Parts: sequence; structure tokens; C-alpha cells
Amino acid sequence: MPSGPLAPAQAHLQASLERVRQRIRAAEQHSGRALGCVALLAVTKAFGPELVASAAALGQRAFGENYVQEAIAKIERLRACAGLPELEWHFIGPIQSNKTRLIATHFQWVQTIERITIAQRLSAQRPQALPPLQVLLQVNVSGEASKSGVAPAELLGLAHEVAALPRLQLRGLMAIPQPGLPPAAQHASFAQLRELLENMRESLRARVQDASAPLDTLSMGMSADFEAAIAEGSTMVRVGSAIFGERP
Ligand SMILES: *Cc1c(COP(=O)(O)O)cnc(C)c1O
Repeated sequence: MPSGPLAPAQAHLQASLERVRQRIRAAEQHSGRALGCVALLAVTKAFGPELVASAAALGQRAFGENYVQEAIAKIERLRACAGLPELEWHFIGPIQSNKTRLIATHFQWVQTIERITIAQRLSAQRPQALPPLQVLLQVNVSGEASKSGVAPAELLGLAHEVAALPRLQLRGLMAIPQPGLPPAAQHASFAQLRELLENMRESLRARVQDASAPLDTLSMGMSADFEAAIAEGSTMVRVGSAIFGERP
């Protein structure tokens, strides 16, 4: 990185990224959780590769994208960018079955699995040269904004099927509760997801023996509600606008 004064846009990004990191630390502390136990996924949909490169230069490594073509254009631009460390890409948008091969080839994580057919395609299409794809099941918790996500009653069935797929490594759960819920309802949605993960862990204990990849991930919390999510056990917050500003 150049050691001269930061360009204004870079200085602005540095300040907002630092503010989000501090809010995460404060929330960890406030809820009695270990400092550093919550990972930050920077959500870059609608922003260009230059901004991703700037965030990477500030130490951010994990990025979330919602649209396959847009994401792959960025991933390839950044891969060609000399001097950048290796980045970790998470797919967090709805998955169409004709896009699974691209997703399986370009991403390290997929957070939005809600159907076994999609999981089977991702497993079959994951290139042999790459490590298993790290996956989360998206759950439709109460107060879900969209209709996406598996219903809680169907989660364990899906989890057992996904855990058996050879090229996927099931890591946990993800949810997108409705924005703007009153605090009590917000906390209840996040607590519900945490309880579902605990049940799933119990139910899969015999099946998932690989201790190097535990069911350790609870992806919940966005710009507007990540403190509540951390209080309820989130291990990964997905933050876009609080870091990068309103999407263009
Ligand atoms: C866009 C998006 C985010 C980030 O939302 P912000 O409110 O900008 O922080 C997080 N998760 C998913 C699934 C998204 O689509």
C-alpha cells in the first residue's frame, strides 16, 4: 500500500469501516462474548471492484455478493489485481439452477441454500481442484422479509441431506429477518435462528464428525440490526450500507 496520505474516498471508507468494526466489538463486549468472535462480511453488491480493492487494502477479506454475473466480473478483476491478498467470496443472493456451476466455481461460501436440488447441483459442479464449498442453509424465520428460506419445520430434513453431499461442507444457518421490526421481535427472530442451529447440531452430531469444520456459523445481522443479532449469538454479520454508504 502507498504510504502517502489517503485519497478522500479511501479516508472516508477507512473511517466507516473502523466505525463498524468498533460497533461489532462494543456489541461483543456488551453481550459478554469473546472479542473477535463475530466475523464481518462486507456486502459489495452494486459497488464496483475499486471499492472492494480499497476495503481489501484496509484489511477486509470476506465479501458478499448477490448477483452472479456482477460478482464474477468483480472477482476476476480483483484476482488480476497484483498485490492484493486472496479474498473470500460469499454468495448471498437467491440461486437460480442455471447459475449453480458459476457459483460452485467462483465462490468459497454459499449462504442461501434452501432446496436440496440446488445443493446437489453445487456439490456435483464444485471443481475437484477446489476445497469443498462451505455452505449455510437459509431459514425463513418468523418475520422474514421475503419468502426465501426453508421453513423451520423442514430444516432438519434438508440439513441431513446436505450434510451427506461430498463436495459441500455444511457450516450453519443464515436468515434475513424483516427490516424495521420492533426490538423484541427482532431479537426473537435472531434467537429462533440460534435455537434452530443448536437443534441441528444435536441432530447431526453423529453425521458430521469432521471437527475441522464444525457447525459453527450463524450468519445474521445487517447494517440496521447487527447489534441485536450479536446479542443473540451471531457469528457473522453481513454489512453493506453502514460501510459503503447507500447503494447507487
Ligand atoms: C444487501 C444485503 C446485506 C447488506 O445489507 P445492508 O443493510 O446494506 O447492510 C446483507 N445480507 C444480504 C442477504 C443482502 O442481500
